[in-house]
Amino acid sequence: MAVTSRSASVLTGLAGVRGWQEDLYRDLHQHPELSHQEHRTAGMASERLRTAGFSVHEGIGGTGVIGVLDNGDGPTVLLRADMDALPIREATGLPYASTVTAADTAGAEVPVMHACGHDVHVTCLLGAAQLLADTAEHWNGTLVTVFQPAEEVGDGARAMIDDRLGELLPTVDVAMAQHVLPAPAGVVGTHPGPVLSAADSMRITVHGRGGHGSMPQATVDPVVLAAMIVIRLQAVISRETAPGEAAVLTVGSLTAGTKSNVIPDHAVLQLNIRTYSDATRTAILDAIRRIVVAECQASRSPRDPEFELFDRFPPTVNDPDTTARVADAFAAHFGDRSGVMPMQTASEDFSDIPTALGVPYTYWGFGGIDPDTYRTAEQAGRVSEDVPVNHSAAFAPVVQPTLDTGTEALVVAALAWL
Ligand code: ZN
Ligand code: ZN
Repeated sequence: MAVTSRSASVLTGLAGVRGWQEDLYRDLHQHPELSHQEHRTAGMASERLRTAGFSVHEGIGGTGVIGVLDNGDGPTVLLRADMDALPIREATGLPYASTVTAADTAGAEVPVMHACGHDVHVTCLLGAAQLLADTAEHWNGTLVTVFQPAEEVGDGARAMIDDRLGELLPTVDVAMAQHVLPAPAGVVGTHPGPVLSAADSMRITVHGRGGHGSMPQATVDPVVLAAMIVIRLQAVISRETAPGEAAVLTVGSLTAGTKSNVIPDHAVLQLNIRTYSDATRTAILDAIRRIVVAECQASRSPRDPEFELFDRFPPTVNDPDTTARVADAFAAHFGDRSGVMPMQTASEDFSDIPTALGVPYTYWGFGGIDPDTYRTAEQAGRVSEDVPVNHSAAFAPVVQPTLDTGTEALVVAALAWL
């Protein structure tokens, strides 16, 4: 049977899962959990997977859940959803808005909100898992579902990999994931090649020799040193990176000293770097170290500078053949509701999983904004003002057609292999 008629057969069950999916989405939205604390969400995912007939592994990398459904000979397809929410106070005004607070890693009580739509991702993947489990006569192979913790802090995928993910899975042929975006609900978009940037944060401590503000000759001033570094770093993108290569280097924080007449003994800079390839990423990180070390020498700094990398995300570079296969399946199923997703400056850790498994992957986007709201904003030229984006306190994807579209996308993409 052709893929389109097989997906139509599998998706005849959509009306049967839609009811619980909508309830589950509102429930998850109202009960968001911070990164690495996704116990309730993981428990709900495990229970649904088990009921649908999957073999389930829980507690992988903390709260991660793996479901495996073996349906005979054929390819193995991995679908991944992230589960965590953000420390944001919800301002959507929805009847199912979150009022949850939780302790963050520093022990501070913070508001928690599903402001990135990971509640949508969990709901859509559970729906797709159920639909495929219910229609095993229409496909062959193995379906692997991965419910991943802690995407927002960039180390949840890594935690699952380090906790035997590879050993628990059969040999995977392809890995896929999706993200709900501030686009009209009902649309899907694919993008071959680089689609999400790598992100790195770096904390740099440079040392001087403190002293009286009136006697600079007796000191090494770390404020001047740090200022020179900030200026010199501007040349990394403008002079060392090819014009066609997208990259960002921001010094988001610079702190030194406490008083106008005291020269402090150190300064701390915090940088954020966004790149779309491993080669550019390595070149920029190397350039930063080279410049900082050289500026410290130029300033007679008495101690070597210290570098600390944190909040690191890999680049997401969609495999062209895998993406073309999904794009063809989407075009056949969604028609003119499928298109191209623009390159995003956001970052994701999903690609850590296929990279660790050594398999090709693709990552697509789908809309979550009420189509009428979006069209009105577009006609008024006010999309950036009136359409809330991910991580905004006003971002909550509409229930439908968002859930149907995300569920259909997963089923259609999986069936392009199974
Ligand atoms: Zn996010
Ligand atoms: Zn997200």
